[in-house]
Amino acid sequence: MSEKIYPVTKPVKARALIDKEKYLKWYEESVENPDKFWGKHGKRIDWFKPYTKVKNTSFTGKVSIKWFEDGQTNVSYNCIDRHLKTNGDQVAIIWEGDNPYIDKKVTYNELYEHVCRMANVLKKHGVKKGDRVTIYMPMIPEAAYAMLACARIGAVHSVVFGGFSPEALAGRIVDCESTFVITCDEGLRGGKPVPLKDNTDTAIHIAARQHVHVSKVLVVRRTGGKTGWAPGRDLWHHQEIATVKPECPPVKMKAEDPLFILYTSGSTGKPKGVLHTTGGYLVYAAMTHEYVFDYHDGDVYWCTADVGWVTGHSYIVYGPLANCATTLMFEGVPNFPDQGRFWEVIDKHKVNIFYTAPTAIRSLMGAGDDFVTRSSRSSLRLLGTVGEPINPEAWEWYYNVVGDKRCPVIDTWWQTETGGHMITPLPGAIDLKPGSATVPFFGIKPELVDNEGKVLEGAADGNLCITDSWPGQMRTVYGDHDRFIQTYFSTYKGKYFTGDGCRRDADGYYWITGRVDDVLNVSGHRLGTAEVESALVSHNLVSEAAVVGYPHPIKGQGIYCYVTLMAGHEGTDTLRQDLVKHVRAEIGPIAAPDKIQFAPGLPKTRSGKIMRRILRKIAEDDFGALGDTSTLADPAVVDDLIANRQNKA
Ligand code: ATP
Ligand code: MG
Repeated sequence: MSEKIYPVTKPVKARALIDKEKYLKWYEESVENPDKFWGKHGKRIDWFKPYTKVKNTSFTGKVSIKWFEDGQTNVSYNCIDRHLKTNGDQVAIIWEGDNPYIDKKVTYNELYEHVCRMANVLKKHGVKKGDRVTIYMPMIPEAAYAMLACARIGAVHSVVFGGFSPEALAGRIVDCESTFVITCDEGLRGGKPVPLKDNTDTAIHIAARQHVHVSKVLVVRRTGGKTGWAPGRDLWHHQEIATVKPECPPVKMKAEDPLFILYTSGSTGKPKGVLHTTGGYLVYAAMTHEYVFDYHDGDVYWCTADVGWVTGHSYIVYGPLANCATTLMFEGVPNFPDQGRFWEVIDKHKVNIFYTAPTAIRSLMGAGDDFVTRSSRSSLRLLGTVGEPINPEAWEWYYNVVGDKRCPVIDTWWQTETGGHMITPLPGAIDLKPGSATVPFFGIKPELVDNEGKVLEGAADGNLCITDSWPGQMRTVYGDHDRFIQTYFSTYKGKYFTGDGCRRDADGYYWITGRVDDVLNVSGHRLGTAEVESALVSHNLVSEAAVVGYPHPIKGQGIYCYVTLMAGHEGTDTLRQDLVKHVRAEIGPIAAPDKIQFAPGLPKTRSGKIMRRILRKIAEDDFGALGDTSTLADPAVVDDLIANRQNKA
């Protein structure tokens, strides 16, 4: 745990929308009188029929969550139409291609026409309100058009990350019984084509064996590469949009009509089909986007996530567009043509707000500072992070090297299930502590409980729950409300259990320690894996580390560390001893690693999260059944880890 504090600086405070006083005042009102607070802030979006009821939620019994329930609105209307009168010519989307010489700008007027045409194509081919449409796309503007087109006509989209395999795609098509797929001939990442249409064809065959029959596939032409074609089923997007009108009235949606299904990243098991609805979700995504990133008119905002993750939904598409922002969409990868790409793009498009993940930060940190310092980054004002706990070492690098000690680092803790940011600093209001997501957003009531459910007060370490609903909360697991109740509301009665472990310090700051399953119990001491990882990464030769427990005859659990070194360094026994000493010095003897395995790569989900359950199996020398690995980015990594495991029987 880092003891350092980075106070809000004068220039940040001077332009911030929310200062400390306002944060405290609003927060108090938001938790004491949620009806009043959200009744007011719900009006940040336009309603066709205003709501008269605000909050109607229960975390017990059947669990029911409704916000603004008698209001009517449309998400696509709020993200586009309402801006046209005043901001039609403003750039809505800056698209940066995989190839650094290719980019494009889409204004709100253009966005309107693209979305309306795509919506009309969907209607023409029979898609109706409530139908599920699967979107399997690379990071091109058409992915956003597709989402907004569904929202416009009331279809429920399920975006599946373009890096997923045909099997993973098929599983998601089957789970929500989706018969319409929007895809692309091929994607492009790091100069290499990704066969999206061919994968779709394979997935459709697999789904058909499970009795879900896809009847139409709308194909966007991106590379012009050769793909299979099923006449009658497959439709070229560029041909279809020429046959329909450039306007399409938005359908009046009830606040609680479904907007999308999104499967969680699968770090802990089989992905869950998280269902989000219309009104509350949009209010929450837009409000967090504005205040957490301190978004001002004219800012250029870039979130590097993929639209296949919730971060892409809330903070590339819905939040920014509802706020009439300029949002950058990046097709490529951080290390192509080289490791300086992010910083080059920031200079090229004069990005003011930059939001990425710890995994990217750590890997770019490992590449060395020169890639960063050769760029100016003078447009940057704010840096954000999401996805995993960020170790203080990476935080400091992000702050000092990328942000030139000028830009606050906003560490946002949230989940697919929460729809938007939950625990996060507000840049003008909250002093920062590296590694801490700091304090709750408006309306969020965190609580720490021990394993028996006893509420912990003051400075404490426990399981993170949220005790009351907020508008962006998921409403159910698609098609399985019992799983929803079981997963989130049964561990601690009447509370939403996040699955994450967390510590609250004496200042009331929250420190996410990782998933509860990842907490170690070493000789009776509770230790977060994140803590040991942070200590390892603070060693100057370590670029990344993952820590898991394994059964230990004396300690109960032993500490097994997978360590990736900085480029150009080799793992030796001397370094092993040095690392053990280092961790002892950083945390204490209790945290001394028992096993250290040097690993050139770690098993990560497609969203860049380390799959610890696989690492646990390997550490336990029990790798016969690794479970669902369909969301793994590079399965080959696992073979290397198994071959070099340190606990061979
Ligand atoms: P699954 O639920 O399928 O196992 P997942 O939890 O990885 O997958 P997401 O909803 O994408 O799916 O990720 C949310 C989780 O990511 C959080 O519960 C938390 O463990 C972690 N996380 C996200 N942001 C942060 C952050 N800023 N600090 C610490 N942890 C974070
Ligand atoms: Mg999760």
